[in-house]
Amino acid sequence: MSDKNYDIAIIGGGPVGMALALALRLSGVSILLLEARGLPEKVDDIRPLALSHGSYLILNRLGAWRKLSRSTLINTIHISNKGYLGRTVLRTQDADVNALGHVVNYFDLFHALFETTLETQTDYQTGAIVNTFSTDEQLGYLSYTQSDGTEKKISAKLLILADGGRLGNLIEDISYQTAEYDQWAITANIQAETRQTGIAYERFTSDGPIALLPSGDDFSLVWTASTEAAKEILMLPDEQFLERLHDHFGDRLGKFVHTGKRSGFPLVLKYATSNISQRIALVGNAAQTLHPVAGQGFNLGLRDAYELAQIIQDTLSEHKEIGTPGMLKQFREKRRLDSSGGRAFTDTLVKLFSNDIPLVRHLCGASLIVLDNLPFIKRFVARRMIFGARG
Ligand SMILES: Cc1cc2nc3c(=O)[nH]c(=O)nc-3n(C[C@H](O)[C@H](O)[C@H](O)COP(=O)(O)OP(=O)(O)OC[C@H]3O[C@@H](n4cnc5c(N)ncnc54)[C@H](O)[C@@H]3O)c2cc1C
Repeated sequence: MSDKNYDIAIIGGGPVGMALALALRLSGVSILLLEARGLPEKVDDIRPLALSHGSYLILNRLGAWRKLSRSTLINTIHISNKGYLGRTVLRTQDADVNALGHVVNYFDLFHALFETTLETQTDYQTGAIVNTFSTDEQLGYLSYTQSDGTEKKISAKLLILADGGRLGNLIEDISYQTAEYDQWAITANIQAETRQTGIAYERFTSDGPIALLPSGDDFSLVWTASTEAAKEILMLPDEQFLERLHDHFGDRLGKFVHTGKRSGFPLVLKYATSNISQRIALVGNAAQTLHPVAGQGFNLGLRDAYELAQIIQDTLSEHKEIGTPGMLKQFREKRRLDSSGGRAFTDTLVKLFSNDIPLVRHLCGASLIVLDNLPFIKRFVARRMIFGARG
């Protein structure tokens, strides 16, 4: 027996789950959004997120952008290949846009989406852990534990999994394909001798890519290293850490003079064999978890959420039922190219550029030179990064 019935229940109130609820705020459907964490104080994750210009446009439309306390515009992306020839520079004019992207951090984005979601009619419950769910042809059912320990059961016409990929294994006809990179990403706020803003650096090294993203006139670091090396780097005293970073990145920004708190994230490619099942849709990291190279994961997840919301709205405006096999198939087809493209793009970048084979690294360097000299390819790559498959 269900305590309550909804049109839509979203499992996971992370950035993608909240964005989806916001995209549906004017649709008239009843929405339950369940988030395991007690918010927003419990979210202390300051990983940097490079948001594409396309994501900026969506977040602006959702009303969340104006709530962001900090963001830094990217007008140039400098891509290089450590130890080999070849580099390319992408500028706003290459893609005919005013900005290539914006750098924010996870906590600020979470907070902005949280504040905006509270202004809507969404039934947003925090400290609510979904334990299990099931479906039949008509409805989805789930049970969750509230922060006071009581258990609730609800039903909905559509269950949306936005939980980062934790509960997907409960769905019988979906499994996850997983490839471990044996790499971690180390993140920290870094101050360099050279103060500048607007330029993002992505440098490929045989140990993995390293990115320094503009954050005001400082930088947000995403340094990929083997699991073993990352654990050691995370333990270094600040001064030795900054020296090691300088040795690894090079002297383009002079010495690194200050570091904030460091965090480490194990990296994996994990994706669901399908993003739909009976009365269920998967969005964001629940559908695909990517390597952070080229900053694609959240941007892709946000497009999942936005396009699902559009399909739901179209379905409603045609006076049809939501969550039917026909509606879900439409969602699967619409996301196929963008999702598989994002996956292949990041995975190929990691595998091609993170290796010690000189011939391959020379070819990668040559491809950066070609990219730098052929404006139409540059435009294609820049727009693909900004707008996904539609670019
Ligand atoms: C180091 C690093 C750097 C990155 N940089 C970029 C970047 O530059 N650009 C970019 O686009 N992406 C980047 N990403 C990827 C990005 O962080 C993710 O794609 C994004 O956070 C996914 O959002 P999500 O809402 O799908 O999942 P999550 O952020 O994992 O949120 C899932 C939510 O579901 C909740 N939840 C889980 N289980 C339950 C349950 N049982 N019941 C209720 N709630 C539950 C969790 O508490 C959480 O709040 C980066 C990732 C890393 C690790």
